Amino acid sequence: MTHENILIQARQILREVFGFQDFRAQQSAIITALCTRKNVLALMPTGAGKSLCYQIPALMMNGLTLVISPLIALMDDQVAALRLAGVSAAALHSGRTPDEIRHIAEQMRSGSLKLLYVAPERAVSERFLSFLQDIPLSLLAIDEAHCVSQWGHDFRPEYRQLHQIWQRFPHIRRIAMTATADQQTREDIIQRLELHNAEMFISSFDRPNIDYQVIEKNHAKEQLLQFIEVQGKNQCGIVYCHSRKRVEEIAKFLQEHRINALPYHAGLETEIRSEHQKRFSREDNIIMVATVAFGMGIDKPDVRFVAHIDLPRSIEHFYQESGRAGRDGLPSISWLCYGLNDIMLTRERILSSNIDNERKNIELGKLNDMVAFCEQSSCRRQYLLRYFGEETEACHHCDNCRQPPEQYDATIHVQKLLSAIWRVGQNQNATDIIDILRGKSLHHRDLSVFGIGADLSVRGWRSIVRQCFAQGIVQVRSQWQTLQLTDLAVSILKNKTPVSLRHIRRYKAKSHYTGNFLTERQENLRQALREWRLEYAKDADIPAFVIFNDRTLMNIVEMMPTTFGDLSGVEGLGEKKINDFGEDILAICRKISNKAG
Ligand code: ADP
Ligand code: MG
Ligand code: ZN
Repeated sequence: MTHENILIQARQILREVFGFQDFRAQQSAIITALCTRKNVLALMPTGAGKSLCYQIPALMMNGLTLVISPLIALMDDQVAALRLAGVSAAALHSGRTPDEIRHIAEQMRSGSLKLLYVAPERAVSERFLSFLQDIPLSLLAIDEAHCVSQWGHDFRPEYRQLHQIWQRFPHIRRIAMTATADQQTREDIIQRLELHNAEMFISSFDRPNIDYQVIEKNHAKEQLLQFIEVQGKNQCGIVYCHSRKRVEEIAKFLQEHRINALPYHAGLETEIRSEHQKRFSREDNIIMVATVAFGMGIDKPDVRFVAHIDLPRSIEHFYQESGRAGRDGLPSISWLCYGLNDIMLTRERILSSNIDNERKNIELGKLNDMVAFCEQSSCRRQYLLRYFGEETEACHHCDNCRQPPEQYDATIHVQKLLSAIWRVGQNQNATDIIDILRGKSLHHRDLSVFGIGADLSVRGWRSIVRQCFAQGIVQVRSQWQTLQLTDLAVSILKNKTPVSLRHIRRYKAKSHYTGNFLTERQENLRQALREWRLEYAKDADIPAFVIFNDRTLMNIVEMMPTTFGDLSGVEGLGEKKINDFGEDILAICRKISNKAG
């Protein structure tokens, strides 16, 4: 097939089966590569649309496509979505009964199955591999390929066994996909999955629909509650915490405030964990309070916010976690709340962790970058992308863009802080130094710096310490978290260099909801469609979003379709869905428009 013919056929499947008009960046190039017998490594951010990159070739090729996926929930949701689109797909994992397995085997033998999702440990079992011997195979898709690497926190040793598949079936093409941008992980994937000769596709990691907000911690729980309340009812979100204990505490706190919140961490029993994961994927107004253990398997497109109530360890972690918001491309928020204690706590955790010194230094460096992100004054999104080696315009909707921080000349205060650090012999922590500056300490009363900073509150001083840390003026050392001077500090003291810092911002929670642009009739239609969708999803025991996601829903609301012809113009409704749901959707639209008229 020529490239042109491949694309014509691929686009036809995109429209008829999946109901989308056009490919997104890279999708068509990846599909072309696979259909011309190349192996592929695709690095694309969450929500970019990696699944279609192998699902469409799977439908174009003769034979079976194997999809390796690390989580049962993830496989089941994908299979449910494919079946609703009329694609013959199945998932093989420990949750299947012998009868179901027999049925899948028959479909594989008869060639009627196009995609088989399979857990990695099963995929490399001798039994499965010999069964495959007689099945025509076309493609091997390895989703969440970063699981092969020890660098991430999703390491799955079984991924390292996958080479058995292409050793046994050398003609099979393979595509590995991940949203992890980290260089080390990337190299690991190439090495371990033997992709040296693969075509590599790296998309922009830009997430233009995410609105970044960073606030200074000051009664975090209340701040979180206020933030969630501003987001309005019926919203899905994730709250990340740094420890299991904290997860329990925050989940309970939110529940006490009548918020539909659930805890998730590795210390919970497996059944509870998967129950919570399932509820999160199915319900459409639920908040998951979680440690970073909750990550993969969140294919939910309508997560409207990700809140970090503790400081993430690195920008990589932060970006991956916050990236779980807004897969559907609709406006979403990343909210981060942090204070000086977060820096100290995270340092402590790094220093006391079980890794060698070289690694510790790397981690401390990453923490510094994270703090610098929090304290910087220009566009957040620009900063993040620059971190990953990309240049973009300012976003105009992050907190710094909307309300540029006011700078002030902080030279005198910074000099006072630095002198105090120097006078106490650089062996006191921030709390003690602030007490000395404010004249509240029981010690060091004889020092010249004692009480010279009584004009500022503790909060004011903590903000200065954080900013000096972020700008590399002071450093934190040893397990005692002592503040020490850097070379930069010495030169500031010596040359009386002016230093400007930012004022603490008055914080107002912002909603992702971008205006009341819906008429009453549209709002009624939106609610009616949601209710119908939820009802249907419950009966079919599948997540609501696989029927159609919020984007499709809003598209229907805007179009108010009256005929089947209108429906084919709705984004996300392919032929099968129009056949199956069209009647119901049109009936709902009719009812609402009659009511209004
Ligand atoms: P990823 O695996 O890269 O995180 P998914 O494959 O889950 O992303 O896709 C994210 C969302 O984008 C899904 O809801 C999917 O239906 C939608 N999507 C994918 N490709 C397109 C496209 N070409 N046009 C419109 N929507 C798309
Ligand atoms: Mg995916
Ligand atoms: Zn911005």
